[in-house]
Amino acid sequence: MDKIHLFEQAGLGKAPFYYVGDAEANPCISCDYCSHAIKAVFMVQSSDGKTFRVGSDCIFKVGDAGLRVKVDQAIRQQKIKRHNQDWKWAQEAYKNYPNELSEMKHPYMDDKDMYEYIVYSLNHGHFESTEKRIISAVKKAQKLHEIHN
Ligand SMILES: [Zn+2]
Repeated sequence: MDKIHLFEQAGLGKAPFYYVGDAEANPCISCDYCSHAIKAVFMVQSSDGKTFRVGSDCIFKVGDAGLRVKVDQAIRQQKIKRHNQDWKWAQEAYKNYPNELSEMKHPYMDDKDMYEYIVYSLNHGHFESTEKRIISAVKKAQKLHEIHN
């Protein structure tokens, strides 16, 4: 006999379960399986039509391979989306922190600073790793700016 799905055991409806989408991060939402607060919310539907919200940890814990694949995909897409938003922000925001960024080291050249690195990178081709480096530098500059002003 097949093992009863842990979500089914928990009274969340009948297996199999289907991933139906993710929701925006919200600190007020708790997981319907473990009742802990969840930041990344994933919507799951049972075969008999019950929809509930679970965190990614619980999706991975219950060992449902089909759900896992879908949630892995969703997490990847969320990361890409977040990166694109951050990158869009950083390309404008760096202009607000020239002093802070000039104080930071250029990643490769001793006689240049982070601000010059950013300007150069924006005017030339660059890799995604460069975007990540710039995003974190601009975030750091923003924090420094808030502390000093
Ligand atoms: Zn949970």
